[in-house]
Amino acid sequence: MSTATATKKAHTVKPPKVKDQPLLIGGKWLDSVSGKTFDTTNPATGEVICQVAEGDKADVDLAVKAARKAFQEGPWSKMNASERGRLLNKLADLIEQNKDELAALESLDNGKPLRDALAADLPLTIKCYRYYAGWADKIHGKTIPVEGPFFCYTRHEPVGVVGQIIPWNFPLLMQAWKWGPALAMGCTMVLKPAEQTPLTALRVAALAQEAGIPDGVINVIPGFGPTAGASISGHKDIDKVAFTGEYTTGQVIMEAAAKSNLKRVTLELGGKSPNVVFADADLDAAVDGAYFGLFFNQGQCCCAGSRLFVEDRIHDQFVEKILKKARSQKVGDPFDAETTQGPQVSQEQFDRVMDYIQAGQQEGAKMLTGGKRVGSKGYFIEPTVFDNVQYNMKIAKEEIFGPVMNILRFKDVDEVIQRGNETFYGLAAAVWTRDIAKAHRLANSLRAGTVWINCYDVFDAAAPFGGFKMSGIGRELGEYAMQNYTEIKTVYVNLGS
Ligand code: ADP
Repeated sequence: MSTATATKKAHTVKPPKVKDQPLLIGGKWLDSVSGKTFDTTNPATGEVICQVAEGDKADVDLAVKAARKAFQEGPWSKMNASERGRLLNKLADLIEQNKDELAALESLDNGKPLRDALAADLPLTIKCYRYYAGWADKIHGKTIPVEGPFFCYTRHEPVGVVGQIIPWNFPLLMQAWKWGPALAMGCTMVLKPAEQTPLTALRVAALAQEAGIPDGVINVIPGFGPTAGASISGHKDIDKVAFTGEYTTGQVIMEAAAKSNLKRVTLELGGKSPNVVFADADLDAAVDGAYFGLFFNQGQCCCAGSRLFVEDRIHDQFVEKILKKARSQKVGDPFDAETTQGPQVSQEQFDRVMDYIQAGQQEGAKMLTGGKRVGSKGYFIEPTVFDNVQYNMKIAKEEIFGPVMNILRFKDVDEVIQRGNETFYGLAAAVWTRDIAKAHRLANSLRAGTVWINCYDVFDAAAPFGGFKMSGIGRELGEYAMQNYTEIKTVYVNLGS
């Protein structure tokens, strides 16, 4: 969708009214076993949107039973692969038909500008389901020329019941990245959305029912990490867990997965991605890309270019342009078509980002703009730019997850490669230069799962995404993601007499 269309729509859409939400187990919409509920909040106002059923261990147990039954007994497990693909395409169609409602729900719960939800989250989500719909009947093994009178082949089978724990920054998209390959492969699943943003996960689950995905294949248990989340990662009858979130949570999940039943684990964790601007770059493109690469989604992206390396020779020019951009943003109501930056997702995230801003100032970085709260309600923060950031400062090392840009200067290629890799993260990196050899040298040398050359935040359902080092294990998207949901079985047939 073009920005112009999205903008027009944004004028006409009012924040939706939402009723209290149940959870979904075995095709039934239920209260939680404990009867408990929790608030989901509008980050633009701090007001409660509605109550959501709060799942815990008892609910996860029931959901896993339903998912196991659906996995073993059919109709899911007995369905033709092409039929699974057809249902996934139908789900994509239903999401497309309801995209305005879903975008509004996402903006309301997460705070992202509605025009961003319409221009990015919804199209990427729909394309992700369509991409994996295509995979459903293209999963096959090999025949292998083993020694002896044996016919040997492999079967690619679904891994089984999967647990999926997702974060709040891109709720619809993270759900699609997990459900797309799992459904294409024929797995059944228990998803826990983030406690901050459960609404769109539940709405898409209802659309999945409408699409005809059988009961029990999809189960959604909203709730908190240490209760519902931990019950998933530590469950003995879940075969695989997929997680996106902080690396410290990833460590807890991996440990629980190991201790319970050695379930398979894929993790997509944080980052502190280097974005390198050389003096020979197209400066305006680099400024736009660096701004977008950091401030998109209120800076709440795991792949945010949060270490912005600018070559000495163009530093002053670059800073002038970035500041002009930062000062021209409209921070405010996500439903206002003019808004370019919404609130942070929660009070907790707001406080955390403000603490980092304070730390930057205390450690001697030069705050050129921003740093303050906007308005008196909601969790809005001014676009903030720090210059003179030194490599050992907290803001240069830790993931801030907010609208705070850190500019570090560098002099030459070797230095920036070394500094770029001085982090335990390795999710993404970018380089801006007109020199093709230099661009490829950086692409090869930076230890990151994705490298963007003269662009930032380009995503496609067909291309893998994931982290080196402590940014994760495994890859989502593309053909690679299918492996996460596959068990390989080797079959020998004796053809001898
Ligand atoms: P954030 O701090 O940004 O919310 P988290 O990694 O804590 O990031 O959260 C991402 C997801 O992980 C959320 O769905 C959250 O509820 C879940 N989560 C948090 N703690 C745990 C845990 N101990 N076990 C399982 N899931 C968890």
